[in-house]
Amino acid sequence: MNPAPYVGRFAPSPTGPLHFGSLVAAVASFLDARTAGGRWLLRMEDLDRPRCEPGAADTILRQLEAYGLQWDGAMLQQSQRDDAYAAALDALKARGAAYPCACTRSQLAQAPRNHEGEIIYPGTCRDGLPPGAIARAWRVRVPDVSTRFHDRIHGDLEQNLANDVGDFIVRRADGLFAYQLAVVVDDAFQGITHVVRGADLLWNTPRQIYLQDLLDLPTPIYAHVPLITNAAGQKLSKQTLAPALPEAGRGAVLALALAVLGHPPPPELNNAGPAQLLAWASTHWRIEQVPLQPAIANAAP
Ligand code: GLU
Repeated sequence: MNPAPYVGRFAPSPTGPLHFGSLVAAVASFLDARTAGGRWLLRMEDLDRPRCEPGAADTILRQLEAYGLQWDGAMLQQSQRDDAYAAALDALKARGAAYPCACTRSQLAQAPRNHEGEIIYPGTCRDGLPPGAIARAWRVRVPDVSTRFHDRIHGDLEQNLANDVGDFIVRRADGLFAYQLAVVVDDAFQGITHVVRGADLLWNTPRQIYLQDLLDLPTPIYAHVPLITNAAGQKLSKQTLAPALPEAGRGAVLALALAVLGHPPPPELNNAGPAQLLAWASTHWRIEQVPLQPAIANAAP
């Protein structure tokens, strides 16, 4: 029998334990993969060493297992993948697509920002470093054209990278490879065909598609599930002090995650545990039912 063509993934950053927002993203990508008869891989995005919390990766594995979200095969760790990222950066350099940048954060503080609050790089070092300046980071040159892409939940979208992002960083001033580069290299390495992740990453997608084009890598099919915010409208995260997923009452938490994904379980599953809920959801999952709007986690623990 041929292996199923669908390969999905969950790619948490071990900056702390999983919270309700990360559970929602994990459940969505898990169900989408399982209902397609596909594989669901796990990638620990421990790229940004200074932001990683000791022990968080192990906690995440335990949390996924406790919520019935069993991944396939061996986990990939970004901290082990520097050689692959370096090779990709070399390929970008060889194409003349990457250039060194000497700008400091404070020099860019006044630059315009996009609707996500990110700095739009003004192109200061694009045509060469200013005299006497020292290269700090590497950026990739973006074209002044509109990139169209399709999201299974958000529909057809487009972004002009030059207007909305500017030349973006692929290797940071501290020597670490940037998320945008690592995610593209790893999605291709793991053979990912379908990315299902949180909507906070929706507008990262054109950057990733652009890098895939430059590096001759396939573009997966994307779907971005609603972001979970706290009552103040902030994304649940370590910075906004989102609580870790609870150890008790997992069924109720999972039922809530399914509800915000547009799949509220029926009342007869009120006291069901994770395995039963996921079994039900696997037979009912339709990505068309996932709402567009962010959800407020005020009922979440
Ligand atoms: N590591 C990222 C996060 O935890 C997710 C990356 C991705 O899914 O592309 O937000």
